[in-house]
Amino acid sequence: MKQAIIIGAGLGGLECGILLSKAGYRVTVLERNAAPGGCIAGYRRGGAYFDTGFHYAGSVGPGETLDVILKGLGLDDLPWKPLEGEEVIAEGRRFFLPFGFDAYADALSEAFPHCQASLLSYTKFLSEVVQMPLSHFGEGRAMDLFSRSACEYLERTIPDPLLRKVLCGASTRLPYAPELPLYSFAQINASFLRGAARLAGGGETLVRALVSTFEAEGGTLLCGAGVSALEAEGGRVKRAVLSDGRTMEADVFVSDIHPALTNALLSPQALRPAYRKRIASLRQTGGFTGFSLRFREGAFPYLRRNLFLAPERGTVWDGAASAGLFFAVPPEGDFAVTADILVPGAESGGAGRWLSAFDAVLPGVAEAVEEVIVSTPQTWERYLGLPQGSAYGIAKDFSHPLSTVLSPRTPLENLFLTGQNLNLHGVLGVSMTALYTCAEISGMPFVKKQLGI
Ligand SMILES: Cc1cc2nc3c(=O)[nH]c(=O)nc-3n(C[C@H](O)[C@H](O)[C@H](O)COP(=O)(O)OP(=O)(O)OC[C@H]3O[C@@H](n4cnc5c(N)ncnc54)[C@H](O)[C@@H]3O)c2cc1C
Repeated sequence: MKQAIIIGAGLGGLECGILLSKAGYRVTVLERNAAPGGCIAGYRRGGAYFDTGFHYAGSVGPGETLDVILKGLGLDDLPWKPLEGEEVIAEGRRFFLPFGFDAYADALSEAFPHCQASLLSYTKFLSEVVQMPLSHFGEGRAMDLFSRSACEYLERTIPDPLLRKVLCGASTRLPYAPELPLYSFAQINASFLRGAARLAGGGETLVRALVSTFEAEGGTLLCGAGVSALEAEGGRVKRAVLSDGRTMEADVFVSDIHPALTNALLSPQALRPAYRKRIASLRQTGGFTGFSLRFREGAFPYLRRNLFLAPERGTVWDGAASAGLFFAVPPEGDFAVTADILVPGAESGGAGRWLSAFDAVLPGVAEAVEEVIVSTPQTWERYLGLPQGSAYGIAKDFSHPLSTVLSPRTPLENLFLTGQNLNLHGVLGVSMTALYTCAEISGMPFVKKQLGI
């Protein structure tokens, strides 16, 4: 039986673990932390469970992309809790945006009747992108859209600047920057607008389901097993060296960690300096400051929507301050137990400013908070090794799609990459990328068969 080693038990690593086990490999996933999950792992404090890098996901309705992938992996009955929509507050106005392309376009057409035709073409375009065949990920039409500017597309097709602000209102969903490719913008937004949900039990439920499915397929997960080196000979990786000195050999190695950190595990002779330099020179997306809120019992109702504050001045494209409030994790009863405020970038001012800003639109929310736990991009760098605490990995650039959208292949024949740094971030993007990685190893027909597509 062929052996595979996967470095990192993040979402991408665990999904590849399941697929490669199904493909007949004996798979070991090596995780440096004490627990698996990476960004989607949460933590407990004061009796409450807090999510960190998982608040909601799109595309989980029957037959939608993430649903197809998760079911294809064997995760059949995850307890998704659908959301009713999202609310964007921009220039003093509140916009409730229901999910579903038609309902979304109708709601916005009421507020912006002069933009009805633009909104219809916008949602038509998003629905085309979200329905692109999974097997074409990373090629053809997707790569064409990777080479177009999201910002330019919106300015050209949406005449009203306030409407553009509302369309980009969910500012924490994407690494907004002038370089953002149209593909990333369209695929991620479309997947959420079609319908989004939180998970009962939060990210921990997904991690548990991934690990138990992986182990049921015969895989082995070793936590507290950081990889400190990869030894290569003759253009192939021979073995992984663990931080406690153990070594493990395999036929195939998959890295779910940042590509530059993967390269750093290899000796200078193993890779051409030009490849190393190219990967090291890629820009990272920014990180988040997170304010995890614990509510007093019964003090504030659970809301089935996320709220976003659009920038007061400037736009998300130039990095103006914005924030999202997520009532993750869904509670058992009617009252919120925890919630998260996410602010792009390193925010030095504390929770007060954002709590008051959300309190202005949700009266009583600030008063209901008993405890605030702060995390910064440095927290993410320290716990997960994300370079600069980058939330969404390597920044994609529409003007350099071929160098910023990475292939799962590396110059070493049996070393593959996966995870959010390659193509697309988030639960959906990482899951799509896991397929893409495993298709390179076991062939697209195998992946298609697993997913029944
Ligand atoms: C604040 C925040 C909020 C987010 N919210 C959402 C959301 O609501 N919805 C959504 O869809 N997405 C969200 N995301 C994005 C999503 O969480 C990530 O895109 C995804 O989980 C990344 O998975 P990954 O497998 O690529 O990498 P990671 O989760 O980074 O996993 C990599 C793993 O490798 C391990 N590792 C590192 N170095 C080594 C080593 N040397 N040896 C062994 N193991 C190692 C790490 O400990 C980690 O467990 C959010 C992200 C952040 C940061």
